[in-house]
Parts: sequence; structure tokens; C-alpha cells
Amino acid sequence: MRIHAPHIWNRLNFSLKFAIIIAVAGVLIAIIPLSLASQQNGSQATQRAADKAGVVVNLIASQEKSLASFAAGMAQELTPALTAHDQAALTSTLLRYSQVNTTSDIVAVHGSLANAAVVGGTPLAGNDRLYTTLSQTLTASYNVAPGPDGSPWLIGASTLPTTDETAFIGRPVNAAFIQALAGTITTSADTAGIAIVRDNRVVTEGSSLLDQPVASGTPVGGDITSALNQAPSPKVANVNGRQAGVDAQSLASGFALVVSSPVSPVITLWEPVAILLALIAVSMFFIVVVVQTDLQRPLRRLDRAVAAMADQNYDIPVPRMANDEIGRLASSFEEMRRQLRTTIAETQARAAIASELNSPQPLERALGQVCSHLRRSANADTAFILVNGSEMTDSFAVCDGKPLDLDVTQVLGQEGPIGAAYRYTGGDAVMIGASAGSAEFATGLQEFCAAPLRMGRAVLGVLGIARGSGDFGRGDASLVSSSAEQVALALERYRFIAMVQRQASIDDLTGLYNHRFLVDYLGQQVALAERLNTPLAVLVLDLDHFKRVNDTHGHPVGDMVLTSFAQTLTGSIRRADLAARYGGEEFIVVMSNTAAPDARRVAEKIRAAVEALVVPLGSAGQAVTVTVSIGGAAYPEDTTTAQELLATADAALYDAKHGGRNRVCMARDGDAAGEGPNNVTSVVRARRSAQ
Ligand code: GH3
Ligand code: MG
Ligand code: MG
Repeated sequence: MRIHAPHIWNRLNFSLKFAIIIAVAGVLIAIIPLSLASQQNGSQATQRAADKAGVVVNLIASQEKSLASFAAGMAQELTPALTAHDQAALTSTLLRYSQVNTTSDIVAVHGSLANAAVVGGTPLAGNDRLYTTLSQTLTASYNVAPGPDGSPWLIGASTLPTTDETAFIGRPVNAAFIQALAGTITTSADTAGIAIVRDNRVVTEGSSLLDQPVASGTPVGGDITSALNQAPSPKVANVNGRQAGVDAQSLASGFALVVSSPVSPVITLWEPVAILLALIAVSMFFIVVVVQTDLQRPLRRLDRAVAAMADQNYDIPVPRMANDEIGRLASSFEEMRRQLRTTIAETQARAAIASELNSPQPLERALGQVCSHLRRSANADTAFILVNGSEMTDSFAVCDGKPLDLDVTQVLGQEGPIGAAYRYTGGDAVMIGASAGSAEFATGLQEFCAAPLRMGRAVLGVLGIARGSGDFGRGDASLVSSSAEQVALALERYRFIAMVQRQASIDDLTGLYNHRFLVDYLGQQVALAERLNTPLAVLVLDLDHFKRVNDTHGHPVGDMVLTSFAQTLTGSIRRADLAARYGGEEFIVVMSNTAAPDARRVAEKIRAAVEALVVPLGSAGQAVTVTVSIGGAAYPEDTTTAQELLATADAALYDAKHGGRNRVCMARDGDAAGEGPNNVTSVVRARRSAQ
């Protein structure tokens, strides 16, 4: 079964909960003995009331018995006077008996022979109400009987021998009588009230409940009524608003005795209770202080730190606390936060690196971005990527942060940290310090964490991070090795794309760029020349009488000649120039940053080199020679678009062919003949019609 704490309780803070629990416990600790003491006092009071009632009942009984023996003595003495019918002797005897008794007693004789009564030495009339009333109650030798006003009288009676006459004495239970009873059962320290009750009303003068006198005729309260009606009767009752032990004992003729004894107040106990409550309050205060300082405040600080983490802020450290349970919890959280921060930073760096490597941008810029992410994530001074040379690219280095000016090929071959990482065959990154003699040491960087850029068996270079001082951790090593994997893959991909692109733009036979590439390239170069305001020249080359070569030696020899020609051509131009096979045995050379006179010189150089070219045929020392005709045009003096540049150079070639072949003609050469550069179309048309 699950216990559901009330909603409000769950929302209280620790201090308040502790305070409430202690307060409740304290009040219970104080109240329970108080209530036990009060119960004990109650039962002591009822016991006292019962004891006193017993004493009073015994006193009344002994009074009755002594009254009975008094009556018996009186009857003996009255007998002779009665038998002699001597009225005077009768009366004098009664008078004498009356005088030995208290004044309020009645002494009398009652029967068929004589009726007489005396009270306090005074004879009563025969029809006196007290006498007639009491005469009717003479049923036993002693008794309690109601007088004419309903108040009780103790009666002692004795029947005279051989007659129906009864001598009796009646004593009123009056204030004096009650006073006398009270005198025997109370002291000033142990008070009690005595009341005679009949039909739930007090019937005697001098009655009292506790220490309060109660007039005759006063009805008694409900608590006393119920004590009267129950047996055993002692109980704690409310008497005039005070607690009292009450005992009721029935007398004869419906009378009852009610004795009330006060319940001692428990007031004396309040002093220790107050001290106890004060102690509880003080301890409550200290507990609240302890809870606040040792529990609540640290918990609140912990709560703030964890809330920051929940908010994805992992930069706020969890504060250090005491070495208790909460302190240990806090350090566990701090450890968790550090790991999370590292993991997240690594994940973010990996994602950023992947995104850089996959976005369409030049390789070196992508690698630069990778270095920047790496350096910031690992908090290093430098991040670097060194790529070795291949048939596609020269070696190069990219770095972010403190510059690492090193010769890539050299440093990869040496024994320093980078060279060691380059040759490292393990699965992870290596963490090495630079030794004093190494090239790396000279840069001021001393701690290195680097991994080879491995692609299958090939190693493409090294990726790493470095610091002037301060070791790298396992997280750094894992970041470096995973980045190296990503970068190696990307490098491979870039190389593959470059290769495919190159293959798509290269002519299979000669290894020169093909027609399609040339058209794109020339367009770009014209645009660049326009933007940079630099000259640009184009040469169109056509082998002379090449058909004859084919016809004479066969097509394969023709191909061989074309290949040799291409080699001669590339050998005659600058690295910055571009040679392309335009189709068949026609070629194009694009020369950036070159004006017409220089273009002519290059063309002449080519022409001469081709003229000197001897292509040996396999057997018998045979060889083939060829010549080439070249037409040239220049931007901007001849024309300003790529298409017209080609057409103009082509027209110049036509001139070269017509001029006798194995020669160079530039576009302007024809000006003297009246064919301006603006008349290209007509030249082309003329050439076409000539063919
Ligand atoms: P000229 O240019 O001097 O006027 O005379 P030509 O004989 O060179 O004439 P033309 O340019 O019209 O002839 C081109 C010849 O080149 C025709 C063709 O047989 C040959 N040719 C074109 N492409 C190839 C090729 O890829 N391989 C070989 N072997 N021959 C080719
Ligand atoms: Mg041709
Ligand atoms: Mg030709």
C-alpha cells in the first residue's frame, strides 16, 4: 500500500517539516504525562470521596443504633407508668429523657394507650405534625425517615412489652448534624462536601457540594444525578464547574448521602512542561539551523548547477561542498558535467568538421575550417593538417592558431612528433613531446597530439594539435584520431573527384586537355583577363599535310606522330599556358597574361620545335617528320570574346596555310592586306569557300 502525503506537506521545505515533527512530538511528550497526572488525581479524588462517604454512613448507622438503645431504655422506664395509666408519670419520664438529649431531638411514645411527645423539654400537642409524621414511620428499631418538611430524621424505636405502645426518639439531620459529620471527615487540607439528597434535591440545611453550601431544596446537577443512579457510584463529576470525586451512598427512605472531594489540580506540573517545551523550541531552532546550513543550502546550490545542466549549459561548475553525502553527490555531478561537456564539445566538433568536409568548398578552405574547430575544441595553440604530395597535388600544410612554418615533405620524413605520427601504425592518436633538436621544437610548440591520415595502406599526411605547454588528454586523442579518419576520407574523396574531373577533360591519345575543357577554360580566362585587365593570346595549330602521313604510314603511325607532337607542344610552352587538342590534328594553346608579340614568339618556338621533331618508326631506322601551321589572335587588341578569339586565330591559320604552311600568322598580319580584325566573319567565310 502506498501512503500519499498530503499535497501541502510535499510542498513544505525540510526545515519546516522537521520543525513541525519536533513540535508535535514535543507537545505529545508534554501533554501525555499531564493527562496521566490529571487522570490519577481524578481517581484519587473519587477514592477519597468513597472513603469519606463510608465513614459518614458508618457514623449515621452508629447514631441510629445508639438512638435505638436509648429508645429501649426509655421504653423500660415508661412501662410501669403506662400499665398504671399514670399520665403524669409518663409525661415526667419523657421530660426527663428529653432533657438528657439535644434540644432538637423528639422523645415520644405512640400507641393505643398513650400518645405523648416532648421536644427540648416542651410537651407537644397530640396532633403535632412532627409527632404524627414520625409516628407513622416506626417500622423497625432504627430508621431514617422524612420529617414534615421532607428533611431526614434518624429514628430509634422500641416497643413496650405486652402492649402495642412504641417509645421512640427522633433526631433531625440538620445543619449542626452535618457540621459534626464534616468535622470528622475533613481537615483544612483535605476538604469535602456532604449533602443529603432525595429525589435529586438537597433536603438538609447545612449541605455542601465541595466547599460550596447548598440550600435545602436545590436540585443537584446532572453529573451527581448520574452518580446517584449508578453503582458503584464513585466517579469524577463536574460540580459547579469544578472537577470532583463524587460518591453517593443510599440511606433509608429514598435518602442518599453525596460526598464530594476536589480533584487536585495538575497546575504544579506546568513548570517542568514549560521547561520541556522551551528545550524543544531551542533544539528545534538548532535543527532548523543545521538543516538550513548542512542540507538545504548545499542542496539549493546543487539544484542550481543541475538545473543549468538541464538547460544544456555545461560551463557552470558544480560547487565543491563538505565531504558528506551531499558533497559526494556534488562531486559526482561535477565529474558527470565535465564528461558531458567534453563529450558534447567533441560531438559538436566532429559534427562541425563533418559538415565542413561535406560542404562544397575548396579543399584547403575546408581543411582550414577543420583546423579551426579542432583547435578551439581541444583548446590548443595550433591545429594542423599536413598533406603529402601525389600525382594530383603538391604537398601542402594548413594550420590554425600559432603558425607552424615547416617544410611538409621534410618534416614528414624526420623523427620529430609529426614524422613519428606520420609513421605511427596504432589505431589512436599519439601524444608526443617535441625534443629539443626537432624542427617542431623550434616553433615554440612542445606538446603534440597527432594521427596519420590513413586511407587503407596509404598514408596521406598528418593531422594534429599542439600546445606550448600542457598535456593533452584521452578526449583530445580520440577527437584527433576521429578527425584524422574524417579528413583522410575527405582527402581521398577530393582526390577522386579531381581525378574524375581530369579524366573527363583529358584527351586519351595525347594527354592534352580536350575540346570541351578548352571551351570552358577559354571562357573563364577571357572573363579573368577582362576583370584583371590583362592580355591573353590564343594559338590555333594544324599539322601540315597530315593526311599524307596516314596514307603513307598508316593510322597507328599517325597516332604516334600526334602523341609526339603533343609532347613537343607542352615542352615548348610555360606551365601556366594550356594546350588542348581541338579535334583531329588541330590544337589550341591558351596563354594567359600574354600579348600578341610574345604569343608570336611562342608560336614560332613551337613551329621550330615541331620542324625539328623526328618521330622514329620501329624498324630500319625509318622516321617521320612533320610541320605545323599556326594562327594566333590576342585579347583585347584583336577581339574581346572567346568565340571570336578562336575564329580570328583560325582565320590567321588559314592565312598561314595559304602562305605556304610551316609558318606562323597572327591576326594583325593580315591588316596590311586590308583585312581588319573586325572582318573575322568574312575571313572565316572566305576560308570555308576556299576549302
Ligand atoms: P593541310 O592541313 O596541310 O591542308 O593538309 P592535311 O592533310 O593535314 O589536311 P586535313 O587537315 O584536312 O587532314 C586531316 C587529316 O588528319 C585527316 C585524317 O586522316 C587525319 N586525322 C585526323 N584525326 C586523326 C587521328 O586521330 N589519327 C590519325 N592517325 N589521323 C587523323
Ligand atoms: Mg586539319
Ligand atoms: Mg592538316
